[in-house]
Amino acid sequence: MKRPRSKADKQARLQQILSILDDLYPNVTCALHHTNAWELLVATILSAQCTDERVNKVTPGLFAKYPTIQDFAAVRPEVLAVDVHSTGFFNNKAKSIVGAAQKILGEFGGEIPRDIETLLTVPGAARKTANVVLGTAFGIASGVVVDTHVGRIAHRLDLTREEVPVKVERDLMAILPKERWISFSHQLIHFGRQTCVARKPKCGECRMEELCYAEDKEA
Ligand code: SF4
Repeated sequence: MKRPRSKADKQARLQQILSILDDLYPNVTCALHHTNAWELLVATILSAQCTDERVNKVTPGLFAKYPTIQDFAAVRPEVLAVDVHSTGFFNNKAKSIVGAAQKILGEFGGEIPRDIETLLTVPGAARKTANVVLGTAFGIASGVVVDTHVGRIAHRLDLTREEVPVKVERDLMAILPKERWISFSHQLIHFGRQTCVARKPKCGECRMEELCYAEDKEA
């Protein structure tokens, strides 16, 4: 397919991409199991450099052992590190989770902040984590979650030329309707796991094939 040149053609192509994603993944949401915003924050911190499946194996026991945010604030990070060991980078993750619990209890009355600027002050809540929590737990479109799948596919579909996640996010926020910011990431993450995988994308079975001019398309 030739690259669209006019703004109208680019917009029409984007609409086609969004409508295919809606067809494929009408009701997708975050794959991390959680029952409230705090649990989602913990799960998202644990998911750094780790699969959601692995995190979902760890969190049921973790939330049974530490049922409240007060429990997490009271535990020593080196003890929590043992509990989250299998998710990797366990010392940093444990320190972030305990720090987050203490900050949220000490400064925000135990409530997860609902605006991104405040949430970004919580230990462990970098921009991607904050967007996940605000979008999934509260339905607040604060930005577009850019993980490895979203970054890779946004490139392949020529929705950005940027490499740094924060710049990819800025590009996506500029072209996507705000009401799509939350669902778009969830959809691309599923699409990236099932079809547009990192190595050897399954282009032969891809519904986007006619819209895609990625250089690493598989013949
Ligand atoms: S055609 Fe291939 S590279 Fe392009 S979006 Fe589909 S799976 Fe990804």
